[in-house]
Amino acid sequence: MASGTGKGIPFLDLVSPHVELQDDLMDAIKGVVTSAMFIGGPVVEAFEREFAQFCDTKYSVGVSSGTDALRFVLMAAGIGPGDVVVTVPNTFVATVEAIIQAGATPAFVDVDPQTFNMSPDALKEYLQTHSNERVKAVIPVHLYGQMCDMDSIMALAEEYGLIVFEDACQAHGSRYFSTRQNRWQTAGSIGKAAAFSFYPGKNLGACGEAGAVTTNDEALAARVRMIRDHGQNKKYHHMVEGYNGRLDAMQAAILRVKLPHLSSWNASRREAAEIYNGLLAGSDLKTPYEPTWTKGNYHLYVVTCGQERDEIQAHLTSKNIGTGLHYPVPVHMQKAYAHIGYREGDFPVSERLSNEILSLPMYPQLGRSQQQQVAEALMNFYQGRSVAEASTKG
Ligand SMILES: *Cc1c(COP(=O)(O)O)cnc(C)c1O
Repeated sequence: MASGTGKGIPFLDLVSPHVELQDDLMDAIKGVVTSAMFIGGPVVEAFEREFAQFCDTKYSVGVSSGTDALRFVLMAAGIGPGDVVVTVPNTFVATVEAIIQAGATPAFVDVDPQTFNMSPDALKEYLQTHSNERVKAVIPVHLYGQMCDMDSIMALAEEYGLIVFEDACQAHGSRYFSTRQNRWQTAGSIGKAAAFSFYPGKNLGACGEAGAVTTNDEALAARVRMIRDHGQNKKYHHMVEGYNGRLDAMQAAILRVKLPHLSSWNASRREAAEIYNGLLAGSDLKTPYEPTWTKGNYHLYVVTCGQERDEIQAHLTSKNIGTGLHYPVPVHMQKAYAHIGYREGDFPVSERLSNEILSLPMYPQLGRSQQQQVAEALMNFYQGRSVAEASTKG
């Protein structure tokens, strides 16, 4: 361990919130165990109502993961073989898995160099130049919990008759100011439907795998409910091809304990982000860009490092400071997705970002002195480098 760094700073602290909420969590788990209602039932339904309310939608349907949420909502909307679904290569792989597993064909457009999210200009260009394809839907991904430019994307979707599904798997509680509607909107309430993940490390995390679909469309919600449950609308009456993809009551009970804390956890993350912005102002690092029309939930706090990213990450590791890369390989460059037919150079912004981004420690319990330590370690790196440069120049 490097001297003077104490215990080090983890990239993510999943222990503290569970210790803090231990009694409530244990009560919730005990309630499920003693009721023996493990699959479906009142606890799942209560969570669905509460999460829909949080997202400002009429319905939420609990499923077994964010990936299933994406997959089921595409299938429920009738998207399948022969249909093209447009998304970005700068995302977690699940967005693309879902499109392919629904039987559709993914197409990529590059991201904006400032927001790192779907570029509406790139989307527009794609739609203008691919009128021969059956483009049915678009999946903007609110990466890092920062909102995509939804007014522009919704306007294009209307013009070209596309369905918009938000990948809100990182965006629980993120807000977007719609100029078209002149009001703040919540992630997951803007498109036709949205997918959320409650993977443990997300801003709202289960103690296992879980996810949800949100929508205002009653028929779509009903179809997702069938698809998650073997395609049945009544026990042993199977209406459509389905899956075993339900949210279980244990996870729903745990999520119900945590949901009331989500807004204050998100606020703590936003405060921590502001502190980082101040500490890193004037450094060679580029801090996250947040347009005035978004209030992100800072699922991740991602700086851009230029060419020295790997050295900076190694330097922080040597100081026992945890970091992450979200993501080191854009989806079109993944071996598994070579078959889609894209090549290196097709999405220059996503490709550059994959080499330059670095996720710093970020969680509601992150302390100010810890943030100071992270900033100092970063400053140290640059000081060390200028000393080295001065000495090689003689
Ligand atoms: C986490 C995540 C998913 C998948 O969610 P799981 O619950 O892990 O299946 C999909 N898209 C994005 C952007 C994610 O971050």
